Amino acid sequence: MGYFTPIKTSRASEDVFLQLKAAILSGKFKPGSKLPSERELTAEFQVSRGVIREAIRMLELSGFLAIRQGHGGGAYVTDLTLSHVGNAFLDLFQTNTLSMTEVSQVRLFIEPEVARLAALNFNATHLKRLDEAEANEHVAFKSAPDQIARLTNVHKVLAHICGNLFFEAIVRSMLKITAEIVMTVVPDLDILHGPGEHHAVIEAVKSGDASRAATEMALHLKTFSIEIVELEKVYRRHMMQAG
Ligand SMILES: [Zn+2]
Repeated sequence: MGYFTPIKTSRASEDVFLQLKAAILSGKFKPGSKLPSERELTAEFQVSRGVIREAIRMLELSGFLAIRQGHGGGAYVTDLTLSHVGNAFLDLFQTNTLSMTEVSQVRLFIEPEVARLAALNFNATHLKRLDEAEANEHVAFKSAPDQIARLTNVHKVLAHICGNLFFEAIVRSMLKITAEIVMTVVPDLDILHGPGEHHAVIEAVKSGDASRAATEMALHLKTFSIEIVELEKVYRRHMMQAG
């Protein structure tokens, strides 16, 4: 057949991977917590460092771990519900199984509802996070990913406030797909979605006006959705040329 290269990875790394995965799934290592160091794992599993590294790499690829660099760096357990769903949908989008037209249709349906629920659910404990998310849109950006993160954070915060984890996972998945297009083909995100555009939604949520929150979110997404569907064509062409 000639498609694949022979597997050289030993069974050991797969065993380590499965044990660590089971520990994460059983809650022994909670989301946001740091995995024991490479040295500790090497000692406990009684395998080489290479085997541990391979297992950690596998966990990272399958979305269970995120590697952070620098001070306090290491392998951190990710929020499974959210990252798994997001990665699965991103795969479907990248393989052109799922189109931006479909994503936008769902987004226009779901996000006004998320804003409506956020307005109903809103209380004083949410205020700081929401205000911070809005203020951070106006802070100077360090990089394109930083800019995307800042300009989309209000959507994530509202999805969190809405109180339904499944809605939150879907919203984050849709933002991930949008970010993929923007990162690949949009040189200046400001033109597409600048800072301060969520103000009306935020005000409606804060005042507990559910129907206005839904209307404002629908308005906010309307033009953006048309533009991002157009940008998908550029994205697909770019990927064809790149691939
Ligand atoms: Zn927005």
